[in-house]
Amino acid sequence: MRTAVFSTKSYDKEYLELANAGKHELVFFESSLKARNVVLAEGFEAVCAFVNDNVSKEVIEDLDKIGIKLIVLRCAGFNNIDIETAANRNITVLRVPAYSPQAIAEHAAALILTLSRKTHKAYNRVRDGNFSLDRLIGYDLFGKTVGIIGTGRIGAALANIMLGFGCKIIAFDSYQNKDLLAKGVEYMSQDELFTKADIISLHCPLTPETHHMINRESLNKMKKGVMLINTSRGKLIDTEAAIEFLKDEHLGYLGIDVYEMEEKIFYKDLSEVVIRDDKISRLVNFPNVLITAHQAFLTDNALTQIAATTIDNITGFEEGSFNKANEVTHEMVK
Ligand code: NAD
Repeated sequence: MRTAVFSTKSYDKEYLELANAGKHELVFFESSLKARNVVLAEGFEAVCAFVNDNVSKEVIEDLDKIGIKLIVLRCAGFNNIDIETAANRNITVLRVPAYSPQAIAEHAAALILTLSRKTHKAYNRVRDGNFSLDRLIGYDLFGKTVGIIGTGRIGAALANIMLGFGCKIIAFDSYQNKDLLAKGVEYMSQDELFTKADIISLHCPLTPETHHMINRESLNKMKKGVMLINTSRGKLIDTEAAIEFLKDEHLGYLGIDVYEMEEKIFYKDLSEVVIRDDKISRLVNFPNVLITAHQAFLTDNALTQIAATTIDNITGFEEGSFNKANEVTHEMVK
């Protein structure tokens, strides 16, 4: 199938071409998928999009006008797609629901360890010839209470990792994972988790219900000095509230792989330009904030699985037999 691949980075091209092995005609564009770039998809049957492509109502209507029948997402999240419009226009949306949950969970664990032991600071100091240990005091993870919000694939993987560190795991999710229950994970209400956890990690999807689930009210319920980790979606956190609580030293540590306004910033080299987003600039300047630019998925294992499923999705659609479990349907966003 002729597929226009948007927001292409060198690694996307490398892994997709390897998985494709000439089956489909893939044309790679560095541009993101947004209203004014739809024209690039003319003459194609499918488009392939990523997390920060804005597949809005307007974009989908324009894609429909030029005959696009399939949107393949090379990611798990689908909050950036207007599913209702896609359904109305009879455009199929397929995603990669599961790919190496360990990649994301291990990245969350890396953020936790880096913040708790200040290794990012130690690395820079030593490179600068500064071998002093002043202000590098961290804390043991052993015995700490880790609160996991959303114990699906990634949340469960992180729970297992943190159990290995000797942490107590508490969780909030309307579906209780039997395997985690058997390992002593305790489910409780979201509010109770907020008050009990030393470290809170977010692993639920972004929906209207979870938008800004971390806000002034929820931050206020958390322990002073709490560590908050977000590898899910930026809009789960009200960034302004987080900055306020960091300034007050109530929020002790913030580790994020995703950011509320990341679309205009992440995946771009802005080192020589003036960054106009004051919130990210403020966050970068806190000593107890660690930011990575939505890279939790960036492992060889994950990229291989993403590419394989994306190509399978295109092939399945073309042959009229795609994997239904990969389809993003209207019901999923109700
Ligand atoms: P999953 O579907 O396996 O699990 C999500 C869990 O969240 C489910 O158990 C669900 O019941 C639960 N949930 C839904 N609403 C909730 C709520 N209001 N409160 C608590 N729990 C709730 O998904 P997953 O594969 O574990 O992925 C989780 C999220 O991670 C994705 O939605 C995506 O946004 C994000 N993600 C990020 C990256 C990255 O590179 N940073 C990569 C992949 C996925």
